[in-house]
Amino acid sequence: MSDRFDMAIVGGGIMGCATALRVAGGGMRAIILDQGDLGQGASGVNAGTLSLQIKRIKLMQYAIRGHARWESMGAAVGYHKSGGYTLAFTEHEEGMLLERQTLKREAGAPITFVSPDQVYENEPELGHHIRAASYCRDDGYANSSLTGRYYRKALAAAGIPYHERQRVCAIEAADTGFEISIPSGPVRARRLLLASGAWLKHVAAMIGVTLPVQARINTVSVTERAPTLISSVLGHATGLLTMKQKQNGTVLIGGGWQGDGSPATHSAGGVNADTLVPNLALAQYVLPALSQLRVVRSWTGYEANVPDFLPLAGALPVKNAFVLGCVRGGYTIGPYISELMGDLILGREPELPLFDPMRDFSSN
Ligand SMILES: Cc1cc2nc3c(=O)[nH]c(=O)nc-3n(C[C@H](O)[C@H](O)[C@H](O)COP(=O)(O)OP(=O)(O)OC[C@H]3O[C@@H](n4cnc5c(N)ncnc54)[C@H](O)[C@@H]3O)c2cc1C
Repeated sequence: MSDRFDMAIVGGGIMGCATALRVAGGGMRAIILDQGDLGQGASGVNAGTLSLQIKRIKLMQYAIRGHARWESMGAAVGYHKSGGYTLAFTEHEEGMLLERQTLKREAGAPITFVSPDQVYENEPELGHHIRAASYCRDDGYANSSLTGRYYRKALAAAGIPYHERQRVCAIEAADTGFEISIPSGPVRARRLLLASGAWLKHVAAMIGVTLPVQARINTVSVTERAPTLISSVLGHATGLLTMKQKQNGTVLIGGGWQGDGSPATHSAGGVNADTLVPNLALAQYVLPALSQLRVVRSWTGYEANVPDFLPLAGALPVKNAFVLGCVRGGYTIGPYISELMGDLILGREPELPLFDPMRDFSSN
């Protein structure tokens, strides 16, 4: 057997792993290279919210199909279809809720508007400040800390090799393929997929491609265990809160509040008290019982974006090189958009269109 792979994937997050499975299913020999452990980037530290109510309208059909993939992964990824509420407390937030959720419903999400009393009936612990709310029966969550374990097992079952703790430090592109340098020696492949999350800009530069990738530094917190307080995924009309109570009783609080750090330093980033405090205050306003619970840990992770907040998913202007990343709500959408990406690489027509990574970003 040749030592040259059909495809090398830089990045073992959800995008890299799920695409590897798809192309292997189509008969390609793939290999994954990760600077850390599989699923320990954004895919392993995110809040795990699978909510159609917080998805971008242009990505709704991708998210709906993503939900179906999570449902089929089931208990192995801690999947729960809990239903979810988005809450508004002021007139301004009510307007925002009405406008945004109506558009999402028109885009195909099964979202309904419900009265505050209907919310309190199902979630009696919530503070009685709700002015308006929407509900989506398909919303839920998974446990992102299981991502690495899940994909490691799936890759092994599919016979796909992966190298962990092997940072790609150089890539040589030739007409016949790529030579990728990692500490344990070169890896050769005919095709290349960049799926390196918040490090995409840096890795793409290795093959002379400029991608306008920026990193957001999202914060997540978890409380100690508590008796059942809530059963649904909760969100806020502004998008600044996600909250769920896990089966073990802990409450997970997110909402995209920004911490400190930069992927360029290869550090994990850090929590910023100026953003953590209002994040927790909003959570407590929604669920007053939180005042009795200790937050046992807060952490951050890097999420990649481009100026129009749509994915980079397609071919690069280097022969046989592709990119997949910068997917807003990428944990939800990852398993599905990776199938599309795999299909493109296999030369099949993807079911839904992908997102040209070389599009013009100048108007954003
Ligand atoms: C804190 C946080 C909360 C979030 N919450 C949610 C949520 O609730 N719901 C939702 O749908 N989405 C959420 N997201 C977004 C979601 O997690 C991401 O969109 C998704 O996980 C991105 O997957 P990825 O595979 O592109 O990137 P990653 O998971 O970051 O994977 C990229 C991989 O590339 C590797 N890599 C980088 N450079 C190199 C190199 N030079 N050599 C080798 N390997 C390299 C990294 O080690 C990493 O493992 C959240 C994101 C964050 C950060």
